[in-house]
Amino acid sequence: MGRLFAVEIIYRGIFQKTLAKNISRGIVLAAHQEGKPGISFGRYGDSPERNGIPAKSFAIVATDELTLEEGMAKYEPKEVDISISVDDTLCKGVESWAWYGLQPANRLLKPNGTMIVTSAQRQEVLIDMLHRKQHPYQLAIIKGTPSFSGLWVYKDDHTDVRILGAIAKLLPDLFSLSSIQQAIRDEWNNELKVTSAQRAYERAETVTVQPSQGNPETPFSFEMPKWWEMREGVTIPAIPVGKPMEGGKGYVPERNPYFKKYTTRTMRPVIDFDKCVKCTLCWIQCPDSCFDVTPDGLYDANMESCCGCGVCEAVCPAKECVTMVREDAFEDNASQWEMWRKDKPAYTTWLGNKIKSKDHVVRSHGFRFRGQYEEEVTKELEQGGVEIIAGIPGENAKSKQR
Ligand code: SF4
Ligand code: SF4
Repeated sequence: MGRLFAVEIIYRGIFQKTLAKNISRGIVLAAHQEGKPGISFGRYGDSPERNGIPAKSFAIVATDELTLEEGMAKYEPKEVDISISVDDTLCKGVESWAWYGLQPANRLLKPNGTMIVTSAQRQEVLIDMLHRKQHPYQLAIIKGTPSFSGLWVYKDDHTDVRILGAIAKLLPDLFSLSSIQQAIRDEWNNELKVTSAQRAYERAETVTVQPSQGNPETPFSFEMPKWWEMREGVTIPAIPVGKPMEGGKGYVPERNPYFKKYTTRTMRPVIDFDKCVKCTLCWIQCPDSCFDVTPDGLYDANMESCCGCGVCEAVCPAKECVTMVREDAFEDNASQWEMWRKDKPAYTTWLGNKIKSKDHVVRSHGFRFRGQYEEEVTKELEQGGVEIIAGIPGENAKSKQR
């Protein structure tokens, strides 16, 4: 029996679809250079794939045809040699329509397997976000800003080949540097991409993550209905009417108890309640009915249902009242209003630390104007290009310029 290799790429639906495809395809093409058969396939985590919702692609490679056939007989790999998260906020865990509850990003990793993450963050920040595993594993960071584009546009910032070059170093039995370089030449005919793969190969290094390190939380899960509990016919209950928050005041809308959506988010709104003029616009415009109306007439975004679209920041008329902040700056989904109500000076300090840090608030939301991606890849390709944040709608966009 030969050896089977499995690699998964966890990506954000639509925004990183082409990126994930390039990586899984590149793996198989490089392995082909060495006579190893393999296949790459996309697997919608969500159906149909949606903006930002975590999804997966896989590459399966074997040392011979028979072993590959055996590997392909499974719907998807049960364990992988390498798991790649092409956005660092995916390290918090992933939820989609096809998985039930929250899956740790490193869940399928074999003992001592390698987690590759594209991130500008320090390794400690990523380790704290990743769920604990029972066995040690390796963590490698591809330094740079996570690459986001769209279904019809692709930002060729070399993230794909940088990851492929790193794989050649971290799992040389899968393919060598020269094989991936040849595959890049055949596929893209671009010597600059070949050089980027080589640099990533030279720089790739890992740190061992021990079972005692990482996020200790038990991932969100729920009991699946038993077949004998199912009702006759196909009926989907409507979302019930919400209820008051406390003392007959305020309003909490009902929400889907199974599909939480919060792992869709790469940024979240932080609200300065002292600046809120109670105009109701965020509450009305939020596409996910995230806002609870508090008994004192303020609006508290529920962090379990917020998908991080940024609409509330864009519509809020009060200066610096709502600011979108990078998701990796937070450790939980606690209510901001509860925090503010309990200790206002402490909340003001907490809020200031989040929204005044450029590291926290600067993040590209993707394609905004024609020519943006060409501008982004003109320099710092070894970091995956530069982020352009001009054109982000919202009151606070100006203050986010680096
Ligand atoms: S970012 Fe704001 S508008 Fe968008 S889902 Fe979250 S709370 Fe709603
Ligand atoms: S849009 Fe801004 S000012 Fe208006 S209710 Fe929401 S947070 Fe308050």
